[in-house]
Amino acid sequence: MKAPRFAYARPASVAEALALLAEHKSEARILAGGQSLVPMLNFRVAGPEVLVDINRIAGLSGITVAKDHVRIGALTRHAELERSADIARHLPLLALAMPHVAHPAIRNRGTFGGSCALADPAAELPACALALGATFVIAGKKGERRVAAHDFFKGLYATALAPDELLVAAEFPLPKAGSKPAFGELARRHGDYAIVGIAAQGSTAGKKFSGMQVVLFGACDRALHCAHVERALEGEPATAATIDRALDGIDAHLEMRGDLHASAATKRHLARVLAGRVLKGMEGVAT
Ligand code: FAD
Repeated sequence: MKAPRFAYARPASVAEALALLAEHKSEARILAGGQSLVPMLNFRVAGPEVLVDINRIAGLSGITVAKDHVRIGALTRHAELERSADIARHLPLLALAMPHVAHPAIRNRGTFGGSCALADPAAELPACALALGATFVIAGKKGERRVAAHDFFKGLYATALAPDELLVAAEFPLPKAGSKPAFGELARRHGDYAIVGIAAQGSTAGKKFSGMQVVLFGACDRALHCAHVERALEGEPATAATIDRALDGIDAHLEMRGDLHASAATKRHLARVLAGRVLKGMEGVAT
């Protein structure tokens, strides 16, 4: 199918983009990489009056390493994250996740901000943002505001962004020394959205788990911390037996949802199997 008719605007600055969003309100849609929005237009799932193309706005793209955080601009392409030496060094969890995000052609255009603003429950980047405690930087008519990842993702394709706001960047705190990443997902084919996925970060120093962040995606209405598992791991020996015990409560307080690929019960089973595999594969875990 072809997209419905729409007007097209290409602002040169964040201020211009915000003015367009304020003028057209919920009738405007931001166009970043277009890898999700263009199919939505063609399937007529979305029919905005105006597309606000942010691709020419200077300063929205790029990766900057500061003293205590890494800033990722909203327009940074997936491919740039995948190839970045700074990401591999400072945020290795993202480096592990990137090859699972779609296919190379989509990663060449798709953006970090587009993925987070879309908030697909099976997407890798929102899960990593949660596991790493990122903060989103949002521009609006009253200036910039900052929203922690756990308050940013509100539900199925729902975020804290208002229709007249623009996601500008995310700031990821540098993980503590000794903190390690772990990532895995089950998908029908490599590059498909995850049926279930796990993004984790934490320490096994001194043969004990500490500060473990375990985020499940693809199984609920959004990526969510497995808070019960995180609590059960804290301070315990970094062993397979600890992990098996902790995973008894993987879905405590989480509402698993079935989809086209698997029922809620299957996802619960897969989540447990995958989380066990991912956590037991972490450096420093005795099997
Ligand atoms: P767009 O399509 O341009 O926009 C997506 C939405 O976000 C729109 O509503 C838009 O208005 C909004 N938006 C974009 N940027 C901003 C901003 N800065 N501020 C506010 N709102 C904004 N993704 C995965 O994570 N994992 C996968 O496995 C995966 N597989 C895919 C497979 C296929 C075949 C396809 C077509 C896509 C797949 N994707 C996958 C999606 C891909 O990663 C997209 O690039 C991404 O979801 C959206 O990024 P985009 O830059 O293309 O955003």
